[in-house]
Amino acid sequence: GQAVDKSTDTTQRLSYEDVGGLRRQVNRIREMIELPLRYPEAFARLGIDPPKGVLMHGPPGCGKTLIARIIAQESDARFFSVSGPEIVHKFYGESEAHLRKIFEEASRKGPSIIFLDEIDAIAPHREKVVGDVEKRVVAQLLALMDGLTRRNNVIVIAATNLPNNLDPALRRPGRFDREISIPIPDRDGRREILEIHSRGMPLADEVDLDHLADLTHGFVGADLEALCREAAMSALRALLPDIDFNLAELPYRQLSQMFVSMDDFLC
Ligand code: ATP
Repeated sequence: GQAVDKSTDTTQRLSYEDVGGLRRQVNRIREMIELPLRYPEAFARLGIDPPKGVLMHGPPGCGKTLIARIIAQESDARFFSVSGPEIVHKFYGESEAHLRKIFEEASRKGPSIIFLDEIDAIAPHREKVVGDVEKRVVAQLLALMDGLTRRNNVIVIAATNLPNNLDPALRRPGRFDREISIPIPDRDGRREILEIHSRGMPLADEVDLDHLADLTHGFVGADLEALCREAAMSALRALLPDIDFNLAELPYRQLSQMFVSMDDFLC
């Protein structure tokens, strides 16, 4: 039953258990984000400012967006998700106004988290871009971050694959002054990620996740998720070679014979 639930329920709740590897990174992010949102008075008492911005960087498919989604679900803060490319393209000409609106609403309704995915699209190095529009959007974002005070109770999380393309002014104190690298998983990380994504699958007896973790050097989380999904599809294909795609008529006896065998699939 579980496998079916997982694949059909797109609104599934995620938790920190759904992140493979990255224990240290997740703990640091939680400390930076959950503590100040939950105990703003403690920071005031200590006389320090909580971080305004946290920048996650690393190669695609390693879990940046996943972590942001989980933080949103686990904290009681309001969550505003902004896609960099969307702000620039969909709201072309109104990008600054749109950003301003989001920051205003987040401040009004704090505690809030603003997630800026692919921030490099909104905040490229100003010396390297030609267009005035791009420069204005970067400047607007800097001004909005500077305008946030402790009282607003807003934290901005940003993600990028290209941290060195960002305008350096963004990475100064009081802006995105905390950075966390979300790297490609190591062997143990791959083992955990494989376990997470094959959780609801009827695995064949010979499936050895340790061995698979050894074989998948260089795979990121998104690759390992795809591997599990593809292996499951190949189990279906093996059982139904001339599939007519009428799954409603799949006999239960056959369903019970479906096992996911990943080794064959990898080689
Ligand atoms: P991009 O830079 O392309 O946005 P990203 O780092 O934000 O990449 P995600 O979108 O978080 O990557 O990853 C894509 C999918 O891959 C996730 O939804 C998740 O299913 C899977 N995944 C990636 N990393 C992990 C991980 N560490 N543990 C479990 N699943 C992962």
